[in-house]
Amino acid sequence: MQQSFPMNGGDGPHSYRNNSHFQRQDMNVSRTMIEEAIAKKLDVKCFSSNPFRLADLGCSVGPNTFIAMQHIVEAVERRYLAQGLKSEMPEFQVFFNDHVGNDFNTLFASLPTERRYFACGVPGSFHGRLFPESSIHFMFSSHALHWLSKVPEELLDKNSPAWNRGRIHYTSGPEEVSHAYAAQFEHDMEIFLSARAKELVVGGMIVFLILALPNGIPASQNPYGIMFDLLGSCLMDMAKEGLISEAQVDSFNLPIHLASPEQMTELVERNECLTIERMELVNSRSKLVGPINGKEYAMYLRAGLEGIFAQHFGSGIIDQLFDSFSKKIMESSHQLESGNKEGILLFVVLRRK
Ligand code: SAH
Repeated sequence: MQQSFPMNGGDGPHSYRNNSHFQRQDMNVSRTMIEEAIAKKLDVKCFSSNPFRLADLGCSVGPNTFIAMQHIVEAVERRYLAQGLKSEMPEFQVFFNDHVGNDFNTLFASLPTERRYFACGVPGSFHGRLFPESSIHFMFSSHALHWLSKVPEELLDKNSPAWNRGRIHYTSGPEEVSHAYAAQFEHDMEIFLSARAKELVVGGMIVFLILALPNGIPASQNPYGIMFDLLGSCLMDMAKEGLISEAQVDSFNLPIHLASPEQMTELVERNECLTIERMELVNSRSKLVGPINGKEYAMYLRAGLEGIFAQHFGSGIIDQLFDSFSKKIMESSHQLESGNKEGILLFVVLRRK
């Protein structure tokens, strides 16, 4: 069964809405690249239908999705003008997709009043079909595709070499654990790509930004890998204090995979309908520069991960977990900074043949 782990909803101090500025900065870093992809590679002449339909997959609650959609609509409008199609300027329709458990109420209540598009919600997992065939012209997804559809089962099997004892992620784990994660990611991406290839019109484009690793670099040298390890060690400390049991830690795994460009290239190449127009690692300079504010990092991770931790360990441990994480991360700031050098995000542009 697919699992769903929505970000914190609402507008409170721990909400995704109020703690997603790191993701927003990442998106801003890649804004010019998105605009370039549209200006150079999106041939709007070959689209006959009005409206122009675009989708944000894994949109969460905003405001990042609104900013992204506005930039994309503007870039597409410029493309119509540049291709001499002013009189054929389409109307725009934006499909906001996320898991059914996403706080769509907050999303819709905060839709920008000045928007230049018609808005719809599309509930459901992007690890499956979401739209009719050949109906979408442009798809976008930011900080979402590294979520696996489920935790690989062998991680929970005490008799398997992939049993992930005492850890909550594959970072610093045995090879078998990393392989189980990689296999799940490959399975999920294959389904994702084949669904998108069906839904995109010919010449349509998908752009995504995903947590990633440079080729050949282990997760233990990646800031996210390091943070997941720190969270795991906070949980083990709590187990030693008797607040939770070690068995609870052993049976918990974060379903997040960090892909490398090599792995992503291989996966896309297996799909016969999509071509890679651009793929490169992006260094999100805005993050991890200068002294680290542990509290800020704890809030950032908490907005995205509180739900999944609370579901497994109970909500009673959440404050303490992120408090001790905010202290531990300060001690690892040097490690985090050096792991950021080669890029921690993968920017990908694919086009439907
Ligand atoms: N794109 C936004 C939100 C990123 S948070 C931004 O950049 O700020 C990641 C989002 O992906 C979450 O809202 C989560 O619920 C969603 N998500 C993860 N797996 C998903 C899936 N299989 N289908 C749809 N949404 C998914």
